[in-house]
This record gives sequence, structure tokens and C-alpha cells, in this order.
Amino acid sequence: MIETLDHWINGDADSGSGDRSGPVYDPAKGIVAKQVRFGTADDVDRAVQAASAAFTSWGNASIAKRQQVLFAFRELLNARRDELAAILTAEHGKVLSDAAGEIARGLEVVEFACGMPHLSKGTYSLNASTDVDVFTVKEPLGVVGIISPFNFPAMVPLWFFPIAIAAGNTVVLKPSEKDPTAASWMAGLLKEAGLPDGVFNVVHGDKEAVDALLTHPDVSAISFVGSTPIAKYVYETATREGKRVQALGGAKNHMLVLPDADLDLAADAAVNAGFGSAGERCMAISVLVAVDPVGDELISKITERMGTLRTGDGRGSADMGPLITREHRDKVAGYLDVAGTDGATVVVDGRGVEADGETDGFWLGPSLVDKVPTSSTVYTDEIFGPVLSVVRVGSYAEGVELINSVPYGNGTAIFTNDGGAARRFMREIQVGMVGINVPIPVPVAYHSFGGWKASMFGDAKAYGPHGVEFFTRDKTITSRWLDPSHGGLNLGFPQND
Ligand code: NAD
Repeated sequence: MIETLDHWINGDADSGSGDRSGPVYDPAKGIVAKQVRFGTADDVDRAVQAASAAFTSWGNASIAKRQQVLFAFRELLNARRDELAAILTAEHGKVLSDAAGEIARGLEVVEFACGMPHLSKGTYSLNASTDVDVFTVKEPLGVVGIISPFNFPAMVPLWFFPIAIAAGNTVVLKPSEKDPTAASWMAGLLKEAGLPDGVFNVVHGDKEAVDALLTHPDVSAISFVGSTPIAKYVYETATREGKRVQALGGAKNHMLVLPDADLDLAADAAVNAGFGSAGERCMAISVLVAVDPVGDELISKITERMGTLRTGDGRGSADMGPLITREHRDKVAGYLDVAGTDGATVVVDGRGVEADGETDGFWLGPSLVDKVPTSSTVYTDEIFGPVLSVVRVGSYAEGVELINSVPYGNGTAIFTNDGGAARRFMREIQVGMVGINVPIPVPVAYHSFGGWKASMFGDAKAYGPHGVEFFTRDKTITSRWLDPSHGGLNLGFPQND
């Protein structure tokens, strides 16, 4: 009998009210490692009720008390990060060092949230009118829902819940059903850190649980990360219900290489950003835009480096692990067929890679496709796998025009030694996160993460100052202490004097 993962409601494991469940794979072995329960609307309702009840005291707990729990959680997570990394590698497939990197970036947000006493300070205007003071305070929203994707099972929830909780909200998290254990593990750790029951709940599942969260009248806000069609659906559904929503979507990130760039640096960066986590990152480089004449030399440098990469079980010494499911692997591999049909050149074909792992693992080796026509779905689709496309252009301007014509606007990078060109790029490019000789420009925790165009719906990005704004609402108080009393009738609009 394999284990079935429960929900986490009101501080305890909860087997839910439904009978649906889904498989959780070990993608390096190609086997079902456990089952996860799929929550019903009733399960979501119980989790929201637990969160609502907990909000009464947590929302009123002192900032110091909330901060102490965050500090304790930070210490526990830091001490036990290897345990979490092993869970990530077993269910997602990413290699252990990459899993450790995901946790490190999540920890940065916890550390940022530990600064909530400072971040949530209001503002005060003394004597705005004679003997009248005006001040603005930040209050929590109530119960907030978080819905996360499979590719960062720890980091993406960590983008949101530490800030939400530190600000006094209570949470219901619906993690990806493909690698759900990290969410439940973090719930246990929060309890160990002293978080009161009901403040953080996890309901596992699929669309049924998501829809229940999006439409529940007692949920004030939704933070979503996933693919663009679902992000749009989540944004439209939850805003229609009157909720505050941030919904981060998919991507197709381009890296522009100018002829004056350090081509060894650019080749290293393209390989790292194209194939890290098997390309299953929303900030992965998917398209390399080479400003000729450097195309041939870049291809040769990248191909040489790809020859040294080892694909295999992330628990061993591999550089790159398997894909998340067999279906996803087959879909990604299918783009290599399309590339041939559409007239592109498959320079390195990852199909049939000899992986260091079980035969049934969901393997696809790093693949490189040159001269990809921009009309091909290899170019237009978010492939989300280890397939790096190369498009050649004749000039900087042509490269910028191409990148700006893409519907997505998550991340991009320029590689050049020309500061003027880099600065021009930074100003001209229509993308939310830009790297200058940095291929994966994921902002540090005290800035905010989010793309433009079809890569994000809503106004508040994830974490950083936007995160604090998203999980709080301002209340502005105009106050006069009467000494001596000077009332009197006046039906005119209040004016300051
Ligand atoms: P996904 O959209 O399939 O799933 C995301 C979440 O939505 C999951 O919890 C899933 O259960 C739920 N969901 C799926 N279908 C649904 C439906 N029809 N109705 C309601 N809920 C539904 O995404 P994924 O495959 O888990 O993750 C990969 C995607 O996430 C990629 O597109 C990637 O670019 C994107 N992503 C974006 C960012 C970002 O910051 N912009 C970060 C990480 C991942």
C-alpha cells in the first residue's frame, strides 16, 4: 500500500470529505510514489472556516508575537533545508543542488517577512489641520488563498505565505497536485515554530478545490502562480467575486547576445538558464537571439558545453533531472519533431539520452534547435522543458523588436560589454524583469517579482514591497481631541485650517 497525503486543516492532518485522489510520481523512477487527496468544496469550506476563526486572534496578535513565529520558522527551515530538498528532488525531479537553491530563495522571503514591524509601519501627519492629526495604518485582509504551480513546490508558496502571515492574515494554500508534499511539510514546520492552529491550512487537489477557493465569500484575496490560461481564468473569476488578485502566468524568455559580448560568458549563461531544472522554470531562457555574425560561434560554444551535461536521477551526480510527468516529457519531445517539420535545425537532440537513472524515468536530454522560424510553435509556445531555441537577427534593433512582439513579458536578458546598449535595452524592452549579463534576473526578496503582459494579471507583484501592499489594506484616521470643546454646526465639506 502506498501512502496517501492528507490535507492540513486547523493544525492537523485531515483526510477530507471526498473520494478522489491523484498520483504523485517519482519522475526519476517513473513510478507512482504516493497518492494525494483531492479536496472538495466542503474541504475548502472547512479550511476557510478554520482560517476565519484563527484570524480573530492572529489578526490582533502583536507584531512582536507574529515576528517571533516567523523567526522560529526561519531557524527551523534553515536547519532542516536538506530534508525539504530531498522531498523536492523526489517529487519534482530537479537535482538536489537546484532544490537547495529554491529553498535558499524562499528563505530570503521569510527573512524579509521577519522585518514586518518595520515594513508595516503606517504614516502620521501631525497637525494636518489645527489640532487635527491624520494617520494611516496597515491592517491585514483576513483569509487569503494561495494557488501554486508544480515547478517550485517550496519557493512559490514561500513567495506569499510568510508575508501574508507576518501581516496578520490567515492562509489556505492549494499547492500543485503533482508535487504536494513540500506544502504539507512546511505546514508541520510552521506549527512547530509556534504558529497557532488554523492560521495556515493546506487543501490539496485540482480545479474543484481551486474553484471553491476562488468563489468562497470569506476569502479576501488570491495569489496565483501557474500557466497563462489558468492565471487569466483565476484573475477573472476571483475579481468578479470581489477579491484582490495577483495572478502570475507563463513565459517565453529571450536572451539577446550582441556581437561585442563575452561569448564564453554568454554560452555558459545560455546553458545554465536553458537547462537548469530541465527548463521547467518560468524564468528559464527559452530563446537565444543571436545578433549575427556571432550565431555560429555561439552555437558551437553552447553545443560543446551541452556535451558535458549529465542527465539523471537528481539524487546522484547529474546536472539535470527528469521532467515532471511522462505526458509532459512526451509533449516537450514532440516539439523536436515539429522543429524538423517547420524547417529548423535540430543541433542537439535530447531524445534517447542515456540517463543515469531508471529506464522508466521521464527523461529528455538537453536539446538545441537553431534557425527556428518565428512562425513555428517551437518559437511561439511556452515549451517548459530542456529545449533551447536559437533565432538569428541582423541587428540590436531587430532583436528588441522581436522580443517586444512576444505576448509574454516575464524575464529577458542582454549580453554585451557596451554599457550604452545595455542601458538602451533596459529602457526599450517591454518585459517586467531584465538581466544585464545576468540570465535569470529573479529579483531579491526586498524587490518584487512579476512580469508584464500575458505573464501577469493584476497590479501587485509577488513579495517585496508589492507583497506587503497586497497583503495589507490601508485605513486612514482623521483625529481631533477636543480641548477645549469647540463644536458647532457646519454642513459644508470639511476644510483644513
Ligand atoms: P498550471 O497552470 O497547470 O497549474 C497551476 C495551479 O493551477 C495548480 O495548483 C493547478 O492545480 C491549478 N490548476 C490547473 N488547471 C486548473 C484549472 N483548469 N482550473 C483551476 N485551477 C487549475 O501550471 P503548472 O503546470 O503547475 O506550472 C507551470 C506553469 O507555471 C508554467 O506556465 C510557468 O511559466 C508558470 N510559472 C510562472 C511563474 C511566474 O512567476 N510567472 C512561476 C512559476 C511557474
